[in-house]
Amino acid sequence: MRKIILILPLFFGVRLLAADFNDYFKNSFEQSDKAFDQAFQTVKKIQPKAEMHEFTFEQGTIKSIYWPAQIKSDKLLVLFSGTHGIEAFVGSAVQRWLIDQPYMQDRKDVNILLVHGLNVYGFKNKRRVNEQNIDLNRNFISDRSAFASDDSGYEKLNDYLNPTDDATYGFLSDAKFMWTAIVKMAKYGLENLRKSVLRGQYSYPEGLYYGGNTTVKQWDLLNQLIDKYVSGQTKLFVVDLHTGYGTRGKLHLLANGDKEGNPLYQVFAEKNEIDFGADKKFYTVQGELLTFFIHEINYKLKNKAPQSVGITFEYGTLDSQKTTGSIESLRRMVYENQNFWHPAQNPKDAEKIKNDFVEMFNPSDREWRKTILDQTEVKTKKIIDWLSK
Ligand SMILES: [Zn+2]
Repeated sequence: MRKIILILPLFFGVRLLAADFNDYFKNSFEQSDKAFDQAFQTVKKIQPKAEMHEFTFEQGTIKSIYWPAQIKSDKLLVLFSGTHGIEAFVGSAVQRWLIDQPYMQDRKDVNILLVHGLNVYGFKNKRRVNEQNIDLNRNFISDRSAFASDDSGYEKLNDYLNPTDDATYGFLSDAKFMWTAIVKMAKYGLENLRKSVLRGQYSYPEGLYYGGNTTVKQWDLLNQLIDKYVSGQTKLFVVDLHTGYGTRGKLHLLANGDKEGNPLYQVFAEKNEIDFGADKKFYTVQGELLTFFIHEINYKLKNKAPQSVGITFEYGTLDSQKTTGSIESLRRMVYENQNFWHPAQNPKDAEKIKNDFVEMFNPSDREWRKTILDQTEVKTKKIIDWLSK
């Protein structure tokens, strides 16, 4: 049986080389990176003009594939993965899986840019943040004075979010964490907690959702990509791939900005298809990549800037919109960060903490993976259709 599978692609071209969907999901940076190189070879066979852009700095190399349309086009779809390092495992799988899809390979007039593992440190070390504990999606702030923003909401929760004793895992620590969560919720309300925690903070460098006090190196990469690939386009759609937040197995389309007259409705027109940050169960973020990238494009290219829209694909894993799911998500985040700064004495505890964290952002469940890829197909087709118009 093996032999037949290996020989068949020779007759049917590149497409059948596509593996079982589960094989796209890798467990290490090295495997994902190698697979991304191989995906580039697939792209090259279809479009010899395709380019691999490499951005090298202290953390490593961030690779991006530019895949021009078969005919000359001035429309561009950009897909970022790994803005949060650990989320690059699913993001990378989605990017490589998309490369193998017939509707992507057969599209005529849309250029594609795939930015692979933006937070390459976090990708390599299975952390959400970079080597300075900076959450990249809280760092992209056009107005730098926001690096000194008011963190009073966060301050009240700092001891709870960022404990300084050695990490432990088990019933006792869970019970304590849960009990404190209940007390805090009673005091401040779940919505307030969610919004003040997730929004980002700039005062606690070892804390969760730390946005940094200066710009990260990836800013330079974004500028290079704008000069090289965005300049000259007239229509642009940007997707930032994330996992972790929301209903398990659901692809949430998460948008910031106003609902009223939002251009995203031209792409996703179904009722409630888009979740807005200001909605009850969601949250707004400062310093997020999407808004910044589009802002920079408009700032740099001025009247030559393309019509640009963007959205976050957020693949839910733990039902974090429900109270229990949201406490569990937070628990995994807190334990992981605590274990990083104040490692568990017991290596088994450390291992369990890391495993819970990985499962939250790269679920091993086949069904989960299948369902998110199916939804990605539906949404990506809509974006390609809109760009083709
Ligand atoms: Zn994320």
